[in-house]
Amino acid sequence: MTLGKKNQSNHSRDLFNRVFIFAIQVFMSQFLDTPIAYLKGVGPQRAELLDKELRIRTYEDLLNHFPFRYVDRSAYQVVSDIPFTDGAVQLKGKLVSLQPVSMGRKKKLSAVFEDPTGRIELVWFQGHQYVMKNLMVGKVYQLYGKAKKFGNSWNIAHPELTPWEKVDKSTGLVGVYSSTEKLTDKGLHSKGISKLIVQLIEQVKNVIPDTLPIEVKNQYRLMALETAYKTVHLPQNDADIPKAIFRLKFEELLFLQLEMLQRRQISFEKGRGFVFDKVGSNFTDFYEKSLPFDLTGAQKRVLKEIRKDVKSGRHMNRLIQGDVGSGKTLVALLSMLLGTDNGFQAALMAPTEILATQHYETIKEFLKDLPIEIALLTGSTRKKEREGIHEKARDGRLALMIGTHALLEEEVRFQNLGLVVIVENHRFGVAQRARMWKKNTLPPHILIMTATPIPRTLAMTFYGDLDVSVIDELPPGRKPITTVHRQEAHRARVFGFMKEEIAKGRQVYIVYPLIEENAKLDLNSLYEGFEAVSRSFPRPDYHISMVHGKMKLADKDFEMQRFVKGETHIMVATTVIEVGVNVPNASVMIIENAERFGLSQLHQLRGRVGRGAEQSFCILMSSVKLSKEAKKRMETMVRTNDGFEIAEVDLELRGPGDIMGTQQSGELPLKLSNLATDGAIVTLTRDVARKIMQDQSFYQNNDWNLARIKLSKILKSRPNWGKIA
Ligand code: ADP
Ligand code: MG
Repeated sequence: MTLGKKNQSNHSRDLFNRVFIFAIQVFMSQFLDTPIAYLKGVGPQRAELLDKELRIRTYEDLLNHFPFRYVDRSAYQVVSDIPFTDGAVQLKGKLVSLQPVSMGRKKKLSAVFEDPTGRIELVWFQGHQYVMKNLMVGKVYQLYGKAKKFGNSWNIAHPELTPWEKVDKSTGLVGVYSSTEKLTDKGLHSKGISKLIVQLIEQVKNVIPDTLPIEVKNQYRLMALETAYKTVHLPQNDADIPKAIFRLKFEELLFLQLEMLQRRQISFEKGRGFVFDKVGSNFTDFYEKSLPFDLTGAQKRVLKEIRKDVKSGRHMNRLIQGDVGSGKTLVALLSMLLGTDNGFQAALMAPTEILATQHYETIKEFLKDLPIEIALLTGSTRKKEREGIHEKARDGRLALMIGTHALLEEEVRFQNLGLVVIVENHRFGVAQRARMWKKNTLPPHILIMTATPIPRTLAMTFYGDLDVSVIDELPPGRKPITTVHRQEAHRARVFGFMKEEIAKGRQVYIVYPLIEENAKLDLNSLYEGFEAVSRSFPRPDYHISMVHGKMKLADKDFEMQRFVKGETHIMVATTVIEVGVNVPNASVMIIENAERFGLSQLHQLRGRVGRGAEQSFCILMSSVKLSKEAKKRMETMVRTNDGFEIAEVDLELRGPGDIMGTQQSGELPLKLSNLATDGAIVTLTRDVARKIMQDQSFYQNNDWNLARIKLSKILKSRPNWGKIA
């Protein structure tokens, strides 16, 4: 009895403690929401500027304004030995003079700074009053800044000067913070911001609550959040910095993952789906009898992932990524057959008529021995035929419908559409995807196939509403395309090589960039190119096609068909051939002005060759002078055929916003992490996030209370990153 009572009082004390602690934690986390204007040394004017220039509005925002590097402030250089290059210097010396100097209509402020080894000029182009008021000739200062050449002489523009007696001699490493011109004018250069942060760290001592439960921190050896902030901003030694950064990146990426999963959870709750639990004769007959080869390991794995989805009773929303020719279509077809085995219809939607037709032809050929009704529906399907297809779709006789976005039209109704395969999603967009869903009681399962791989970290982060499958293996026997980089000086040899290949019976593409902004110029260079090629490859030995986007559709088709049929040897074209052309006999792809294309586009273009049994080649022609980035793109293309590797480099070069097309919705919410280089932490946090959402501990376990509060704050404050086309 006594025991029970004790238990009870323990229990209520426990509960009381928990509620109490929680209340304190909530209070603490709200403390971080304090507007930045309340911080000593800020005030309304600077607060407004901090908001405008760096989007720093609250204490928390300032805490998350991280140094982009560190300098050792205990080390001093001397004037006679300043490295006149990049890199900042720190000097100790005297201000010898300070006066305004006029330069034309403008004025600059000029000072002379002197140490025992020499003198250097200091200049200010702005904020003169502030500088004049705060500096004193004759005084000794610590100077921090970058020496630059201005006109004929070296000087240091807008240095940070600290009166020697105020220099904190104890600190070694000091963070360098990004700032802006306007902030610098108000004294908020790196040093000024640093001062605010010192102030802030002092104020938030013991009030930065730790968002993660102790077990998670132990498991991943994470330091306390507050310690991490303190270390990153005011490091005591180098060794702690990486640990602190790891902790903060973990925080940042975990919440990004939680955010994505949370948004997806919302659609999951609504998302019951059809059950395909049978494997019937369509699937097995095709798989065992008609299929002339084995699936690759990657195909088998992805097929398994799909089968698990469609058996689960939940709605499938899956993206299959894989390079051109990796066998995505086949996996999609097998999935559709599974649908038909379970009494459902399936549809495949492609972005262009050419692509839809190609898929139709391929699939029809594959299924020629199976009793499966299949139809092609595009914008140019004749009315009568179209009506027949509509009817068969409605009464359920039609098993597979393949087509363009014509499938989305109002009149197209299915009796029981169970699966939709979408080829190259980025041309459709979410809204259209949603329209498909409305055609049923339950939404059909969705399988999206893309040949433009995006890096794993991006896929894991952005496709919050999609599961991602990767086919990262090509069917056996493919010869990798040989890629080389050449310049105009090599033109004659390139043409010679083309002649050799043509003599072997192969065909050649020559692609020119066509960018809308200077379409006229580009078109001219296409015509010039065509002229040059025509001169070097004269009739009657050679025949050349030319295709570009400004041509009439019928002319374009005519020229294209000539090349497809092998009547022309060379296809001179703009990027219109990027998608949808399949000419297995074409073995050479020449890309002119290759430096003007992005990596993913180059890779797509290269994918037009290498489709037959022959060894294929891709020749990147560029000017001699290339930017660093363009050089990297060329090198990458030459080095690898792997679309995923290329996508990784693309991410490094362009950043996630550009690749995912989210610039409209603002910057990525990441302050510290880099999706291109922090893949390991992305994976870790993704696993943690998945686990705690799946087993509900995130919702039910008190240890996650603060994280839940933080997440709901995030969900309210950010646009929906998961929703991208
Ligand atoms: P993707 O859609 O990814 O571009 P496809 O499914 O169209 O690739 O396949 C490209 C070519 O490779 C097709 O001719 C297809 O029949 C063939 N193929 C697909 N899977 C295999 C495999 N496992 N073994 C051999 N050939 C395959
Ligand atoms: Mg395909």
